[in-house]
Amino acid sequence: MSNSLSQSICVFCGSSSEVDELYKKAAQEIGCVIGVRGYTLIYGGGRLGLMGIVADATLAAGGKVIGVITKVLQNLQISHARYDKLLVTDSMHERKRLMYDLADAFIILPGGLGTMDETMEVLVWLQLKLLDKPLVMLDINDFWRPMFALIDHTIAAGFTSEENRNLYKAVSTTSEVFDVIGNWSAQEK
Ligand code: AMP
Repeated sequence: MSNSLSQSICVFCGSSSEVDELYKKAAQEIGCVIGVRGYTLIYGGGRLGLMGIVADATLAAGGKVIGVITKVLQNLQISHARYDKLLVTDSMHERKRLMYDLADAFIILPGGLGTMDETMEVLVWLQLKLLDKPLVMLDINDFWRPMFALIDHTIAAGFTSEENRNLYKAVSTTSEVFDVIGNWSAQEK
């Protein structure tokens, strides 16, 4: 990783607004810290749900926001109205690849299938050493516990190596998220 480590933080999170306030508050806090610390937010470019909340909070706190979205999603007019840059791709695969390339670190907030898909893909790329970047899961309210249980199940059955538990770090508070990213940066320098 470069000296500009963690200058760009990619956040995967839910696009639904029909979720508990607890998760919205966490998204707001994460966006705010990204902005205050001068990081650039890389995210899926949406304006809905936690995605919109993170982007709004980053912008409000003075941070830079780069959205990465497909033409189709952009045409559905669900992209955010304000960002510093919007990168538009032809396919979902290109979009995800671009987000992964632009990121220095990944923060995973609660979300649904899209969030799980992106998280699993990055974990696989970390496993294959196609990427070497920190990935922190905000396990607020034990949200990700079933996913960790599933990973444990695959380890117990011999399908996943025990050491792959180190591919991600799970924390339960927003402040711990940035402690992990800060410590990771310090180790890499
Ligand atoms: P989900 O967890 O199913 O709500 O999906 C959220 C994740 O998938 C985000 O991290 C985005 O990258 C992507 N995504 C899903 N819906 C949208 C949307 N409406 N606009 C942009 N990206 C989206």
